[in-house]
Amino acid sequence: MLARRLLPRPRPRRLPLARHLSTRPDKPTPYSPLTEPRESEAVDVCIVGAGPAGLAAAIRLRQLSSETGKEVRVVVLEKGAEVGAHVLSGAVIEPSALDALLPGWREMEGQPLVQPVTSSGMRLLTQKWAIPIPHPPQMNNKGNYIASLSRVAAWLGSVAEDLGAEVYPGFAGAHLLLAPEPDFAWDSSSGGGGSSTGGLVRSIHGIITHDAGLTRARQKSPRFEAGVAFRARATLLAEGAHGSLSKQVVGMYGLREGKQGQTYGIGVKEVWRVGAEKHTPGKVLHTLGWPLDRHTYGGGWEYHMADGLVSIGLVVGLDYANPWIEPYREFQRMKHHPHFRALLSGPGAERLAYGARALTEGGLQSLPRLDFPGGALVGCAAGVVNTAKIKGTHNAMRTGMLAAEATFTALHPGVVFTSTAWDGTFEDVKPASASANAATADTADSDSDSHAPLSLAHYTAAFPRSPAHADLWAVRNVRPAFNTRFGVLGGVLYAGMDTLLGGRVPWTLAGHATKGLDPSTTSPDALATRPAASCQSIAYPPFEPPLSTDLMSSVALTGTNHAEGEAVHLRVMRGRGGALGADGSVQTSDSKAGPGTDTPVDADADAQRETAARRRAHVQTNVGTYAGLLQRACPAGVYEYVTDDGGRVVPGNDGEEEGWEGTKLVINSQNCIHCKLCDIKVPTQDITWTVPEGGGGPKYNAGDIGVWVCNLERVY
Ligand SMILES: Cc1cc2nc3c(=O)[nH]c(=O)nc-3n(C[C@H](O)[C@H](O)[C@H](O)COP(=O)(O)OP(=O)(O)OC[C@H]3O[C@@H](n4cnc5c(N)ncnc54)[C@H](O)[C@@H]3O)c2cc1C
Ligand code: SF4
Repeated sequence: MLARRLLPRPRPRRLPLARHLSTRPDKPTPYSPLTEPRESEAVDVCIVGAGPAGLAAAIRLRQLSSETGKEVRVVVLEKGAEVGAHVLSGAVIEPSALDALLPGWREMEGQPLVQPVTSSGMRLLTQKWAIPIPHPPQMNNKGNYIASLSRVAAWLGSVAEDLGAEVYPGFAGAHLLLAPEPDFAWDSSSGGGGSSTGGLVRSIHGIITHDAGLTRARQKSPRFEAGVAFRARATLLAEGAHGSLSKQVVGMYGLREGKQGQTYGIGVKEVWRVGAEKHTPGKVLHTLGWPLDRHTYGGGWEYHMADGLVSIGLVVGLDYANPWIEPYREFQRMKHHPHFRALLSGPGAERLAYGARALTEGGLQSLPRLDFPGGALVGCAAGVVNTAKIKGTHNAMRTGMLAAEATFTALHPGVVFTSTAWDGTFEDVKPASASANAATADTADSDSDSHAPLSLAHYTAAFPRSPAHADLWAVRNVRPAFNTRFGVLGGVLYAGMDTLLGGRVPWTLAGHATKGLDPSTTSPDALATRPAASCQSIAYPPFEPPLSTDLMSSVALTGTNHAEGEAVHLRVMRGRGGALGADGSVQTSDSKAGPGTDTPVDADADAQRETAARRRAHVQTNVGTYAGLLQRACPAGVYEYVTDDGGRVVPGNDGEEEGWEGTKLVINSQNCIHCKLCDIKVPTQDITWTVPEGGGGPKYNAGDIGVWVCNLERVY
């Protein structure tokens, strides 16, 4: 109770309108998100996601507005109950982007970057030993800070609000608002592959927030409230890794055409308080090797924050082949290593928080085209983690700032300002999609009262000259080097050589191939999975509480909550292209829908076609061939393949049996911590993560409670 009272008070926020348009029926009634009447708000820029990228974009737009006297209405939607509630990271933060965005940030009230890095090291772990090895130059953390990224986001949110942005936590962007008719000149040959009608495609006109009060059968309950349509001239998707709306635009417009598919890692993390004698404020340590096998990419970390707290975690590359691997249990096992056991045991040792989140690993080769008709992808929605540094925050902020400046230029052409996002001017760059610019140029000044969607092609064109591009270019070969038959050791040796040269080699290595399939809709990580029968099963050691614990004890620390009886947000439906079949062969799908065709605006419309047959096929392949991978991979225990003793499977809603050979899929969606692993890794690519009602999910800023309490003097 005490801790709860000591949390910072929520900032007052302006609601633009009645939160939802209520059509409360007395009893469950049929529902379609496409026809539901709803309130509509016209804004200049709608930003989906209040992480470092989205908030840097909001701050930069509002700075430009006050510098030039040109009004820009900026709305930021965040699905977490508070800003920062869904942001999870290590985190060691490189402050270069913050220096450019808010030059006086070190003196600003409440800024949470208070623990400078004091030392950096690397250890190669065997089961018993922790052998010091030299760390690559990128891992030199001089000038960096250790902080809770959740708190950084909360602070950036307050800065954005002070500058006049409207930040709305508890509002999940659920559907893309697609133009009713083709209205946007889109050059699909320049990296965008959406089908077009006479050179025009249907653009994105904004976002619809989540409808509240749907029953499990997707009908309107008495508490139903329709979401709000935010009609925007520019929609910036800042959803972080594998965003649900970002995934749709990448597929719809073919934004990865000519690029590689995105690959990911899953980061599993805990925050501990440790004994005072074991705490070295500012110490940063990375590990390689054990407990992961030599074919599985990944590594651990140990960051000593302020106030006796230590962040520890393990990243496992989601291209792992063996479906018996359990990332959660690998992490628990890592704590059994003598190095971590010594750190986390003894008087004063206490675990305070747990969480997990996917992070992008594909780097420059997997970066999609950044703009789309009416908007752009920023931050890790595009995928800007520098894998060699294990850092993405600085690049996420840089892309947010660059997109903001391109948006402002498109809104107010000819208005001069000094860029802080990059070393150039937009007049100097030639967008590949010149026709799209021409289509909007006449009506681009918002002073003219136009609501035409903007082209942000200048953002894509300027990116190669930005600091974020330079940062990613230097390490472009590091992650792909781990994909060879020489395994992790080969990767370490190559990466060491490459990073000494700063990436200045005349070649660029390829990441995982998508086996001839469309990289915009195909997950290379899913395709990398091998049938269980061809892999070694893994016997994990028993848990040793309090050092290592069962999964549900950990999930309880995340504060995860979803509305009672709410519709399941994890849908069994094909939302992507290539998937693995029952014999491990690659299956294609015709799921890609281009603009100009009858594109479903939202995932829910398709989800209504979720059938017992589809679930049965899911169980057959996932259990029959991949040993129920999701049951092991999900870091929150959401998926269970349940076998009925009598070999009988209960019929689904449509009366058909939804299981296979006595086994059915149970989805405990209320436990979901929004890490996105299932959508990325499921071999059949038939789990689609959609947003639940706004405010649901983990509460990582509450889980960081030790940080808040200990830093009380700085918070108030
Ligand atoms: C385990 C781990 C360790 C890491 N360690 C480091 C590190 O040490 N240093 C570092 O610099 N980087 C690190 N990173 C990477 C870093 O976290 C990301 O690069 C950074 O957070 C990206 O910022 P972003 O704003 O693009 O996305 P995010 O920080 O993910 O923020 C996205 C926001 O959008 C919200 N959102 C998503 N979808 C919707 C929707 N449809 N509607 C409304 N809101 C939505 C989310 O709730 C979230 O608040 C790490 C990442 C992980 C997972
Ligand atoms: S259900 Fe999916 S998104 Fe949710 S915690 Fe599990 S793997 Fe992550």
